[in-house]
Amino acid sequence: MGSAKQKIAVVTGANRGIGFEVCKELAGLGIRVVLTSRKEAKGRAACQQLTGMGLPVEFHQLDVRDKDGIHRLSDYLKSQYGRCDILVNNAGIFPDSRDASGDDWPSVLDAAVDTVRAAMETNVYGPMQVSQAVVPLMMANNYGRIVNLSSGMGQLTYMGGHCPGYRISKTGINALTRIFSEELKGHNILVNSMCPGWVKTEMGGSGATRELPEGADTAVWLATLPDGGPSGKFFRDRKEFEW
Ligand code: NAP
Repeated sequence: MGSAKQKIAVVTGANRGIGFEVCKELAGLGIRVVLTSRKEAKGRAACQQLTGMGLPVEFHQLDVRDKDGIHRLSDYLKSQYGRCDILVNNAGIFPDSRDASGDDWPSVLDAAVDTVRAAMETNVYGPMQVSQAVVPLMMANNYGRIVNLSSGMGQLTYMGGHCPGYRISKTGINALTRIFSEELKGHNILVNSMCPGWVKTEMGGSGATRELPEGADTAVWLATLPDGGPSGKFFRDRKEFEW
């Protein structure tokens, strides 16, 4: 366990991709990171990679759709550290798959509601319940930073067609950002959404334009905002982004 003042960060869906990079960078700043993943073996292997680099990272299993698991995590944080300073709601799925020809993205005209429901479970209800579980610990210490991984595909201003599951869920997480931020005013808990850009991960694919550090940069910046920093905003490349 670190010193009483060492900050504690939780990152969801961190066994690979942007979440893993966020863990690496936060730990590189001396923050104790609880790397979580739904699959234990994958999460432990990812964690070992970082501890092998001498970074202060530990593993905790968490499927963001599992309410009991979320409570087990918050109980652990409370008993072990009495705090949770940073939450990065990174876990996400892109459930809208192309048609059999591989050409067309799914249309809202015939998309299955189950696809949208799956996206909402992981990308909205998950972050909502994980946030609900850790906010009391943040309030108790009058300090918190919550970063919600959103996407330009959830931007209402420039909303395009197709992929309704992912789009609706990312608009949903943006709404969560605003609601949590409003209700947490006065507690020094800053809640923001960010878009990482198009990043080379399993979700982004090999054609993506950004490497992991660029994708993680704004999330790490928001996770370490100074007191009095912005809250209830949407960012990309550390700049405010239209909702
Ligand atoms: P990724 O490589 O596909 O990683 C997604 C992570 O989420 C994986 O670790 C996955 O775990 C985890 N996950 C999925 N469902 C989960 C659940 N129920 N509980 C816990 N973990 C779960 O994707 P990424 O590109 O790093 O994406 C990270 C975040 O950035 C997502 O929220 C995504 O929407 C957002 N984003 C990405 C891009 C991009 O271009 N890559 C663009 C905009 C926004 P498993 O390994 O077990 O599947």
